[in-house]
Amino acid sequence: MLDADFFRRWMAATAAAVDREADRLTDLDSAIGDADHGSNLRRGFTAVAAAVGKEPATPAAVLKLAGGQLISTVGGASGPLYGTLLRRTGKALGDDAADVSREQLAEALRAGVDAVAQLGGAAPGDKTMLDALVPAVDALADSFAAARAAAAAGAEATVPLRARKGRASYLGERSVGHQDPGAASAALLVAALAEVAGE
Ligand code: ADP
Ligand code: MG
Repeated sequence: MLDADFFRRWMAATAAAVDREADRLTDLDSAIGDADHGSNLRRGFTAVAAAVGKEPATPAAVLKLAGGQLISTVGGASGPLYGTLLRRTGKALGDDAADVSREQLAEALRAGVDAVAQLGGAAPGDKTMLDALVPAVDALADSFAAARAAAAAGAEATVPLRARKGRASYLGERSVGHQDPGAASAALLVAALAEVAGE
């Protein structure tokens, strides 16, 4: 079972990965955006890692606090979207659960991903973070490792797509041939989950 400590370690591992990969995320965003995705998420997840520390006592509390930090510290479009993902996932886990199963997390993440799609009006194929998140949530029904592989493949598959949402959509055809930065960071979030699960 996955307890509050597992979720705190997931946020810390994501913060470490984002810190490590910030330059790559910003390079991706410089090709089809405004070159701030790495610095946006580094600021956000640094705040998340500090905030979740040792305090929140349930999985839901960890994710809701983390999501709130992202909403209040990340300046770009990705802050409210990732913030909504984590807050809605936390809400779906329920305040009473001291620990949850992988299957329960997969179900809750589905609610979180649906909320992202609703907030941003995007769907898979629009060249956004959803192209990594949706296949990852599908695969999480099987295993953490399958979710990580699906997110990585989904991020890679954004390269030939034309962006239909967010800043990259202003480029039209010129967005083709570049990986979506938000899909790349979503793959880091899912890889960190698999890492703390020991897969
Ligand atoms: P900004 O575009 O405001 O500079 P970021 O650079 O931090 O914000 O994040 C850009 C990423 O946000 C994109 O690569 C994409 O994955 C994601 N994104 C942008 N708009 C949407 C949307 N409407 N729905 C889902 N994801 C989106
Ligand atoms: Mg940007």
